[in-house]
Amino acid sequence: MPNADVHSQVTVVTATLTAVIGQYQRTGRIEINSVAFGLLSGAFASLPDWIEPAIHPNHRGFFHSWLVLGAVGYGVYQLYHWQPETGLGELARIVLLGVGIAYGCHLLMDARTPKSLPMF
Ligand SMILES: [Zn+2]
Repeated sequence: MPNADVHSQVTVVTATLTAVIGQYQRTGRIEINSVAFGLLSGAFASLPDWIEPAIHPNHRGFFHSWLVLGAVGYGVYQLYHWQPETGLGELARIVLLGVGIAYGCHLLMDARTPKSLPMF
């Protein structure tokens, strides 16, 4: 199992790149809020292990499954393309993208281990 530090580092890099590239594609510039988004997402890198703590080798249940990874990926895709009309909507989009990307990165890293992920 990748440890919490590795989960955080990979999440921060992935989320920051997603935010910076997405913002540049939409606006043609890069602002500090996209970098802050990436850094904040690292706080959620261990969310799946908060839900299903790694207290034994078979801790990966439903919330560590391929099914949940697919659902999270679909949600992140939809959020990425959502264009809210209010500032509150944009804030919600950014926060949920950070949580979703952090969750997905965690599951992808766990999937690369010999135990991988359960289907459901
Ligand atoms: Zn995990």
